[in-house]
Amino acid sequence: MPYAEPSSSPLVSLRDIHLSFGSNEVLKGIDIDIQRGQAVSIIGPSGSGKSTILRCITGLIRPQSGQIRVGATQVDQLHTEAELIALRQRVGFVFQQYNLFPHLTVLQNLTLAPIRVLGLDRQRAGRLARDLLERVRLAHKADAYPGELSGGQQQRVAIARALAMRPELILFDEVTSALDPETVGEVLTVIRELTQDGMTCVLVTHEMRFAEEISDEVYFTEAGNIVEHGPASRIFHHPANPRTRIFLERSL
Ligand code: ADP
Ligand code: MG
Repeated sequence: MPYAEPSSSPLVSLRDIHLSFGSNEVLKGIDIDIQRGQAVSIIGPSGSGKSTILRCITGLIRPQSGQIRVGATQVDQLHTEAELIALRQRVGFVFQQYNLFPHLTVLQNLTLAPIRVLGLDRQRAGRLARDLLERVRLAHKADAYPGELSGGQQQRVAIARALAMRPELILFDEVTSALDPETVGEVLTVIRELTQDGMTCVLVTHEMRFAEEISDEVYFTEAGNIVEHGPASRIFHHPANPRTRIFLERSL
């Protein structure tokens, strides 16, 4: 149910989110606030609930209890498919697997949804797509097919595709984990520039140095709990919780 949202309130807020798969309690009371223009990282061991948190924000899964708000939208109250589709237009989501359409060119991958969903005409969508390809440094690949690109290039196309929907924020779920080491940097560069441009970004990553560099706020998850959160400089250099400290010692 939409309601008047004070402009100073966070763009995204999760309050006391509980979620179980069968008898497996995966989220045990998650509270997260994401301000407009912030880069927020969620770090923590595998299986601690990071991807599940992102999927809750986009309404892909519904928690058993708690409140999730994105802008003026109370995500936990959405019921119809149309409402959920509208939410997902506002929240970009980039995964480890880029899932580009293999039979479409790079440009067509970028214009498909803006034409079909946003109703842009082909020319306008094409111009927007070329601008975005410029931004991810792939203007020269507009007419290539995904299979002709490296993993890092495909992931940059996937980021441009998310941007083409003009989202209010973008969620990145381990977007460099499947890439060859030599192409990781070019993807991180694109994300870094997005955060510098003021795009609200939520990043689940194992790239700890990168998370430290770009994040305004870091959340550390373990076994379905937020163990601690705070400014990146504090979490990475003075973690208050011994579990965070052990995790960072192993990861850095
Ligand atoms: P992370 O992203 O931190 O590695 P996930 O959010 O993917 O962790 O998973 C958290 C827990 O939830 C894990 O125990 C995982 O096995 C379980 N889980 C995730 N998705 C599902 C699902 N669709 N069905 C059942 N269990 C799931
Ligand atoms: Mg995950």
